[in-house]
Amino acid sequence: MRLALMKGGLPDVAVSLRAIASMLSLGHAARADSGTAADEDQAMARVAVVTGGTRGIGAAISLALKDAGVTVAANYAGNAQKAAAFAEETGIATYQWDVGDYQACQDGCAKVAEDLGPIDILVNNAGITRDATLQRMSLDMWEEVIRINLGGCFNMAKAVFPGMRERGWGRIVNIGSINGQGGQYGQVNYAAAKSGIHGFTKALAQEGAKFGVTVNALAPGYVDTDMVAAVPEAVLEKIVAKIPVGRLGKATEIARGVAFLCSEDAGFVTGSTLSINGGQHMY
Ligand code: NDP
Repeated sequence: MRLALMKGGLPDVAVSLRAIASMLSLGHAARADSGTAADEDQAMARVAVVTGGTRGIGAAISLALKDAGVTVAANYAGNAQKAAAFAEETGIATYQWDVGDYQACQDGCAKVAEDLGPIDILVNNAGITRDATLQRMSLDMWEEVIRINLGGCFNMAKAVFPGMRERGWGRIVNIGSINGQGGQYGQVNYAAAKSGIHGFTKALAQEGAKFGVTVNALAPGYVDTDMVAAVPEAVLEKIVAKIPVGRLGKATEIARGVAFLCSEDAGFVTGSTLSINGGQHMY
């Protein structure tokens, strides 16, 4: 199937989702080569939860995983209209809960597992900004960003990691940020949370390794989403001027990186940070 996809150097439009899944190897390793198609589909159905999976980068991740043959649950916080439109358009199941709420994560993941099956893949993508200089930042602005962006990773991992460990296979991908790597003026809360995600990733990777659970981070640069649309135009122009590739990233470019980290092929990749930022930050 891998060869068929690459034939002629161009993707064959008739290639099935099953072939794409095979290429990305997102199905279960125990997939039978000689079973019926139904058996194969059953065996292949890894289940993923993508937090903040109905908009922006998260929506692109949900779609990339779905296209790779994964059964996806896309979580969101409160924009029900956007979530309903996303579900209608893509057929992806959506679930509302606040990732900053420990019990809500436990309950939400239990509901996903009941509806779709045990969770094999977690993408901690949900995130918010509450920007201000330290001088102007309130305690609420600090706490809200830490609670959702960093606390959300802990809460979600607590809900799914034990099951992954028990079943001997799991993929956790945490979405960090270029601003967690290099800092950013007016973002002590966001940079601290994202930087924390990178440490969280490396520590949990050590705990998961011998159980077949990989834990990686992906640090996007500036990507064209609603979050970046909130940045004043003059500031954005200065940011783009500093990106060697000369443009903002696309959500699909981040999603492809996540799909790789979630694949069977990435079993030896753990505790790493994949930077996708147009060359803006290198080390
Ligand atoms: P968006 O603001 O476009 O979308 C955010 C998503 O997260 C929405 O689906 C939102 O749900 C959800 N969300 C927010 N808070 C919560 C919560 N408490 N519980 C559950 N879901 C929540 O963000 P982006 O797509 O731009 O960013 C996605 C991730 O990538 C974030 O972690 C961000 O920090 C990171 N990132 C983004 C960059 C960029 O340039 N865009 C750069 C570097 C990192 P709802 O629709 O209900 O509001």
